Amino acid sequence: MKITTDIVIVGTGVAGLYCALNLPADRDILIITKSTVEESDSFLAQGGICMLRDESDYDAYFEDTMRAGHYVNNKKSVDIMIRSSRDVIKDLISFGVEFERNEDGTLKFTKEGAHSAPRICFHADITGKEITSKLLAEVQRRKNIKIIEQLKMVDIIECVGRCAGIVAQHPNGAMTEIDARFTVLATGGIGGLYHNSTNYPHLTADSIAIALKHGIELENMDYVQIHPTTLYSKRKGRRFLISESVRGEGAVLFNSHMRRFTDELQPRDVVSKAIWAQMDEDNRPYVWLSMKPIPKEHILSHFPNIYKRCLEEGYDVTKECIPVVPAQHYFMGGIKVDKHSKTSMDNLYAAGETACNGVHGKNRLASNSLLESLVFAKRAAKHIAEEYDDCDVITPDINENDYRDCDRDYIQTVREEIERAQKNHE
Ligand SMILES: Cc1cc2nc3c(=O)[nH]c(=O)nc-3n(C[C@H](O)[C@H](O)[C@H](O)COP(=O)(O)OP(=O)(O)OC[C@H]3O[C@@H](n4cnc5c(N)ncnc54)[C@H](O)[C@@H]3O)c2cc1C
Repeated sequence: MKITTDIVIVGTGVAGLYCALNLPADRDILIITKSTVEESDSFLAQGGICMLRDESDYDAYFEDTMRAGHYVNNKKSVDIMIRSSRDVIKDLISFGVEFERNEDGTLKFTKEGAHSAPRICFHADITGKEITSKLLAEVQRRKNIKIIEQLKMVDIIECVGRCAGIVAQHPNGAMTEIDARFTVLATGGIGGLYHNSTNYPHLTADSIAIALKHGIELENMDYVQIHPTTLYSKRKGRRFLISESVRGEGAVLFNSHMRRFTDELQPRDVVSKAIWAQMDEDNRPYVWLSMKPIPKEHILSHFPNIYKRCLEEGYDVTKECIPVVPAQHYFMGGIKVDKHSKTSMDNLYAAGETACNGVHGKNRLASNSLLESLVFAKRAAKHIAEEYDDCDVITPDINENDYRDCDRDYIQTVREEIERAQKNHE
């Protein structure tokens, strides 16, 4: 089977959806996802999304992002992200996203670990669901955008050194060739490669593997973020995240003797290291987190989802500590892109967690990733719109049998690449 479209976007998270919404309305756009539209990490984001409140916070916001990233961030990308944040929040509100507000109607801001000031817009503890579902509803209203679920990209089509679309596979094994003038990879993170991760298991770094196969440049493959606090469980599967904003609002960590052992508001990698060291010392697979310093009413209003989920696991966070353990959470590296989100291959863009524009450096500051995904997805859309008329149509001629088994070794290839990058770094 063959589909021809103007632009194909792989992934229905915030990056894919917002990119589609910013492309010209007179172009045919196809978005595919290997799962259902509700199953993306974007739906899982709890804490919130950063915004530059006013000019007086610019330097502090910039410095917080750089400090968390160990000062190896791309400064230009950080500047673009911060400067674009107000516009993005305005767009989201125009699509119907509801952020918490003060009594006077102004936006209410919260603070998370490693932020020196409250600058995070939020919607209870389900900010990602609120944003992504509203973007999805807007996409579904647009006549020029079509979504196909349960369709998995297994390769890109490379033609005379340019990207001419993708090859995708249906659950029954049938292949579809999707020819497109421009392709945007928005396939999210790499959590599916790990035993313990907060990500959906179907996020297996497919775009990274495909980039490796085609010699498309990657960057910072060893920058993998571990979230310090996920709910410890003996069960397999996705780890439930206990958002950083819980510690931002006063929750504290205890060792097995119920003594504090670290400053809970340090960057994620520092807190994770402190927890691992403490787990070793205690000889236990978790440490304790106490939310008791946070008033009960505040827990119920600000963290209802965390409260409910912990209750399901048998813990009442208003009364008792919960066991927490670090888990893979976010990938700062990825497909190398420029400030327009263009990859090293012509006609191919990447946005969201699968791309690396250097914003996060070695370590992402909390609540910067939804923002970064949105800002740079919009930039991809604007650049594609500018380039569109100058781009020749390529008509690829592929044999679908060549792609039948091509995703077989992808997971192992990416694991090896991350390990290689980590060894090189040591
Ligand atoms: C539990 C949790 C909490 C978080 N909290 C926050 C927060 O509070 N604030 C914040 O800023 N960030 C947060 N993040 C990070 C943030 O949610 C993600 O970085 C961001 O949503 C990534 O968006 P994305 O569009 O790049 O990818 P995703 O939303 O993950 O979407 C990826 C899409 O690609 C599709 N896909 C993947 N591979 C293929 C393939 N081969 N073929 C077809 N489709 C494919 C998937 O099905 C999915 O639709 C959190 C993450 C998690 C896991």
